[in-house]
Amino acid sequence: MKITIDLDKCIGCGACEEICPAVFHLDEEIGKSTVIDEEACDYADCCEAAGENCPEQAISIED
Ligand code: SF4
Repeated sequence: MKITIDLDKCIGCGACEEICPAVFHLDEEIGKSTVIDEEACDYADCCEAAGENCPEQAISIED
């Protein structure tokens, strides 16, 4: 699974980290979310939920 965060769209709301902290981490220095463990998405049900709940549709998940 490949996860991409469009940093131009990300507003740093932190929702993805809240929903799926194993995969996403809000980098407070840049005010954007980052993917900390792409492989974890293969095991974490929350990964797709994070993508669906991103208010800016900044998260792309490819199989
Ligand atoms: S939910 Fe979307 S907008 Fe919010 S921090 Fe995550 S990627 Fe950025």
